[in-house]
Amino acid sequence: MHVSRILKAKQRRMVTTRPTATVTEVTKLLERERIGAVLITDERGQMLGILSERDLVHGLSRFGSALLTKTAAEMMTREVVTCTPETSLQELMSQMTEGRFRHLPVIEEGKLVGVVSIGDVVKFRLEELESEAGALKAYITSA
Ligand code: AMP
Repeated sequence: MHVSRILKAKQRRMVTTRPTATVTEVTKLLERERIGAVLITDERGQMLGILSERDLVHGLSRFGSALLTKTAAEMMTREVVTCTPETSLQELMSQMTEGRFRHLPVIEEGKLVGVVSIGDVVKFRLEELESEAGALKAYITSA
């Protein structure tokens, strides 16, 4: 299974915000959208960084309540690891494990087209395992 299949099921939905958004605005966005990370983009839709719950927890530890008025640009990770629609589920899992992050933006022909989270990976891996188990069972019982 590949990233393209996951994106199709998610209808390529992705949540973005601007670098000038405050942390207060970002936390409201994360709550409203029930997500753990948001992509930070410029006015042309180019990705500038990613900001996740982890950054907010670290920021709270460093800045205390002053965190709330910091901007997304100040708190985001700028060196973002990405994948493509052709990336396999297996590759996704190793990228997330090695990088110790739970989100991977998807880039197709230089354009941001979606984001895959560890929740998506678990869901689709389970489906894959179930279908493999079903095929094996059918093979054994028909032999
Ligand atoms: P996460 O596990 O996705 O909540 O992110 C943990 C840390 O990694 C945070 O500092 C994020 O900003 C950062 N991060 C999340 N996704 C990526 C990614 N694809 N590439 C680089 N850093 C990331």
